[in-house]
Amino acid sequence: MAIRSYRRTGVVELEELARLNMLPPEERLRRGPAAVLECPEMIPCNICVPYCPTRAIGMERLIDLPVVDWERCTGCGMCVAVCPGLAAFVVDLSGEDCDYVTVPHELLPVPRVGEEVILLSRRGERIGRGTVVRAWERNRTYVVTVRVPKGLGTEVRAVWVEK
Ligand code: SF4
Ligand code: SF4
Repeated sequence: MAIRSYRRTGVVELEELARLNMLPPEERLRRGPAAVLECPEMIPCNICVPYCPTRAIGMERLIDLPVVDWERCTGCGMCVAVCPGLAAFVVDLSGEDCDYVTVPHELLPVPRVGEEVILLSRRGERIGRGTVVRAWERNRTYVVTVRVPKGLGTEVRAVWVEK
């Protein structure tokens, strides 16, 4: 796979994220939540950097790619809330029989805690169902954490409320 195939497909695949060092080691994700910034293009944006409360995100120049220090990251989700590209996620593989994913959500209806939602992959395909365990809002962007079936933590990138 060409490293920049996302420019053709519009989908950043896991293999490309790994090549760009944007995927936390699985061992880290098994210890608890950590940010995954799916931000492979050199664009003039650094809003996630000053908003990170633990200063876990580094960037030397405005057009550099963000680099996360996953040992400093607490998985708080603030980068998910502020990223204008909806490119920030939090993944937690520490559960024994489930994973947790935190995604940005800017559609109506707003997912509510306890609600069952449809899980969508990074390709927009339905890949299962999950349960909302946390949802908070900042400037009309909702930050939604869902419990998902084990193995889907690195796959789920959006949720859809079926009404
Ligand atoms: S999840 Fe929180 S601590 Fe981790 S990089 Fe994002 S803002 Fe920083
Ligand atoms: S805020 Fe989003 S688009 Fe901007 S640098 Fe951070 S991850 Fe990339």
